[in-house]
Amino acid sequence: MEDLVVELSGSYRQQGRQHGEALAAVIQEIVSEVVTWEKFEQPERVEWVMGLLETNLRDLAPGVLEEIQGIAEGSGLPYRDILALNVIADIWQAQRFCSAMGWADTPDGPIIGKTNDIGQHKEKYHQPFRRRSGDGLPAVWATWPGTVWSNCFVNERGLAFGGASLGMQARNERGIGSNCMLRVIMDRCGTVEEVVKLCDRIPVMHHPAHNVYCDLQGTLAALELTPEGTYVCQGPGVSYARATNHFCPGPFEGRDSGEQRHIENSKKRFANLQRLAETLPHTVEGMLDVVRDHAPEGQICQHGNADMWSSTAYVAVPSQRRLLIGRGQPCEAQFMEVVL
Ligand SMILES: [Zn+2]
Repeated sequence: MEDLVVELSGSYRQQGRQHGEALAAVIQEIVSEVVTWEKFEQPERVEWVMGLLETNLRDLAPGVLEEIQGIAEGSGLPYRDILALNVIADIWQAQRFCSAMGWADTPDGPIIGKTNDIGQHKEKYHQPFRRRSGDGLPAVWATWPGTVWSNCFVNERGLAFGGASLGMQARNERGIGSNCMLRVIMDRCGTVEEVVKLCDRIPVMHHPAHNVYCDLQGTLAALELTPEGTYVCQGPGVSYARATNHFCPGPFEGRDSGEQRHIENSKKRFANLQRLAETLPHTVEGMLDVVRDHAPEGQICQHGNADMWSSTAYVAVPSQRRLLIGRGQPCEAQFMEVVL
């Protein structure tokens, strides 16, 4: 695994170039798989969403935009394609992917587990990175090659994150892509309290997210990050927090968009995560059992349930600045570690 890790350092522009150079071939493959200009139903809307991302990143997180430019330069791919890749979740309005859970009370302090449900044979989409110096807080994280996102991270100050997608018909033309927002949080925040403050200051554009964060002060919370604002739906002061793909009771409850069968699948996983949190030992091993779970109702490691397949899983251990990554179906994957 260590030889898979891409090391970044220096300015945001330099980090982007290093990322683009190291992963040029796989970024090219991913761009050709997802940035399908000929298949976008409303190309003018895609251009509009890309324009919003560019303008709003320039205002709110210019380093991240520099990094996108660096990725294009390093990979030799058109800037327009890399920008479209970075806003693809807001173009697609994907809403049905992933589960996440945090435990506040393990012998190793708070930890987070997460599955990623983007489909079968998607290992190449789960790339580990490490930054020990340069712009942004030092961190270990994983994301799609070519993106300034973060699927799961632990940073130097001990903030950890894992999340899941939500669906909602809403937009904020002043916002940035929520996947890019995760990188802004990783780069700037060290505590859950700082995350909540930053989310109140920087809006997200379209794609809402159900995010679990924990920090070294022992704070654990789940947030609903939406174009209409952020809501802390669980914690602080809880021993566990969960995230699947529907809104919790609160201001956004019932606003879920998308197909009913996906919402039902999400609710079953949410209930199963509660059962697992209440029955499994709160340890790193216990969390590995969560991401590999095959319960008859609401299984977390998905095998085609409502067309969802788990393609990777993570466990973040902030006290050790350690990320465990199992690429492939979580029940079969070998978990390897990346340490800051
Ligand atoms: Zn499985």
